[in-house]
Amino acid sequence: MKRYIGGIVILVLSCAAIFVAGCKKAEVKPVVGLQVVTTLFPLYDFARAIGGDRAQVTMLLPPGVEPHTFEPKPEDMIRISRAGLFIYTNRYMEPWAEKIITGIDNTSLRVVNAGEKVNYRAVAREDAHDHGQKENGSPDHDAKGMDPHIWLDFANAALIVDSILDGFIAADPGNGDRYRRNADILKSDLAVLDQRYRGSLSSCATRKLLHGGHYTFGYLAGRYGLQYHALSGISSDSEPSAERMVALVREIRSSGSGYLFAEELLSPRLTETLAKEAGVGMLMLHGAHNLSRDDLSGNVTFFDLMERNLVQLQKGLKCRAQ
Ligand SMILES: [Zn+2]
Repeated sequence: MKRYIGGIVILVLSCAAIFVAGCKKAEVKPVVGLQVVTTLFPLYDFARAIGGDRAQVTMLLPPGVEPHTFEPKPEDMIRISRAGLFIYTNRYMEPWAEKIITGIDNTSLRVVNAGEKVNYRAVAREDAHDHGQKENGSPDHDAKGMDPHIWLDFANAALIVDSILDGFIAADPGNGDRYRRNADILKSDLAVLDQRYRGSLSSCATRKLLHGGHYTFGYLAGRYGLQYHALSGISSDSEPSAERMVALVREIRSSGSGYLFAEELLSPRLTETLAKEAGVGMLMLHGAHNLSRDDLSGNVTFFDLMERNLVQLQKGLKCRAQ
């Protein structure tokens, strides 16, 4: 229905434009390749690698925007409804996605739940403060306590690539072999990254990953045998309690760690204060939800972010150089 109304508005505006221009035939720019819309950055980056020159991939999240509380605007709905492929992370990350898909009247639109094949981690009750679940007021027992940051386990990231590939092949079977080849390269790069992390994080002075941000790195910590302590819950708008701040400072002091990690989504002020209180330094760790404007225009990839993170982790955890 929304699409129908949108169509009427566009039609009326086009007619008015034609009238003003003296009824000249409107110039229509041809659309080249499969149109793909993604929500978060990892999906965008994987989709553009798989699509290559056969697809036009766009990211719904504007640069720098906080992803956990993001809700699509009417113009985003129009972008999705005109695409051939729409890719979202999972229902825990984008609780709005499944609802809007049912409202879109485009039978040729393929929809990919990128988290369909992954192994989810449940998080402890105190880490499970999810904004989306609090907001809609109806307790979703399946969703409660599931960690949405699935791309930070690189074996899961390869399963995300598989789901995205399935979507590309279904939407554009003629280029299937090309998409398959691109996905294979991506998965072998992920396997190399995984091995580099495993090797680099195998011999560190501390295995405690202490994070002054929201609960983002549970998958990464779980995969490489680190103990993860975050200041707040799985959504970046969850408020840290005074008890958790005190507990984190105590944890830093007792761990012998020289650093507290900060996150890219929130102002580092609170993390700075806690690091100062505990007498340690601060290092940035990027959760890759979204990119800053500078990183986006600099064409930074998921792999670039993960390489930056590895350098920070090796320094913060005092790992032996490989
Ligand atoms: Zn997050």
